[in-house]
Amino acid sequence: MAKIAFIGLGNMGGPMAANLAKAQHHVIAFDLSDAAVAAAVEKGAHRAASAAEAVKGAEIVVTMLPAGKHVREVYEKDVLPNVAKGTLLIDCSTIDVDSARHVAALAGKAGMEMVDAPVSGGVGGATAGTLTFMVGGGDGAFGKAKQILEKMGKNIVHAGASGNGQAAKICNNMILGVSMVAVSEAFMLAKRLGLDAQKMFDVVSTSSGSCWSLINYCPVPGPVPASPANRDYQAGFTAAMMLKDLMLAQQAASAAGASTPLGAEAAQLFSLFVNSGNSAKDFSGIIKMLDGK
Ligand code: NAD
Repeated sequence: MAKIAFIGLGNMGGPMAANLAKAQHHVIAFDLSDAAVAAAVEKGAHRAASAAEAVKGAEIVVTMLPAGKHVREVYEKDVLPNVAKGTLLIDCSTIDVDSARHVAALAGKAGMEMVDAPVSGGVGGATAGTLTFMVGGGDGAFGKAKQILEKMGKNIVHAGASGNGQAAKICNNMILGVSMVAVSEAFMLAKRLGLDAQKMFDVVSTSSGSCWSLINYCPVPGPVPASPANRDYQAGFTAAMMLKDLMLAQQAASAAGASTPLGAEAAQLFSLFVNSGNSAKDFSGIIKMLDGK
């Protein structure tokens, strides 16, 4: 049983912390939201009054925060000044590669091992403990982190050095954003050509156009009963999150000199969708905008 500080108990962090407590770890929980801390305590965690208090005496610190600026701030103000040397630091947030490498370098200077370990699998995967973790960091840190991450996920992949977990995450989500637009366009074209959506699904799902966006998140109601299209595009994975990840991919592409024209187009389309009042909708709802609705 390890003493684990968990900071950021939102949609993802809440169920992840609950799984650590369920695995008999001593979880000390902090979030700016009292309600989020109370929910974690109900699931077996222990309350901390501040992030600084949570990390004092912890063997492992897990953070699950919205964006790079939150991770930098929490690391610089609360985590690094208060943890003991040798503490293992695991950041599971999806953030920009530069911030991930920056905080890892600060942690290294202060005598701590750190990994970036963003996730795929959404709230369902966080709750079921079946997330995929993409981990950036040294071999030793990865080996130790894996034992903890296995309590929250099913696939734990060592993606390489610091920041590479984030690199894998934004590349994956760039494919996801582009493929959702492609699948949506194809369904709209099929409809205008008089092709039934179910027939279209039956053909494409067993043909070369098949992909995750079609099979799991089919953007038209009917063919995939569990997809958000069947409940008026209630998220799921919000359009705002999709846009955030596409923008991270675009920033990284521009810094690295990579040409990503389809990623750029997907970012523009999701930006339009989000800015038309759809930020909380599931990202597959973009089909309505593409259909002119
Ligand atoms: P969320 O907004 O539900 O939760 C974030 C939590 O962080 C909130 O409870 C907030 O109060 C807390 N917080 C913010 N600043 C803080 C601070 N300084 N100290 C303590 N707590 C603070 O977001 P989420 O959906 O849980 O996502 C978290 C991360 O996981 C994001 O980086 C997101 O991109 C990533 N992610 C989300 C999903 C998803 O489906 N929701 C999937 C994969 C990855």
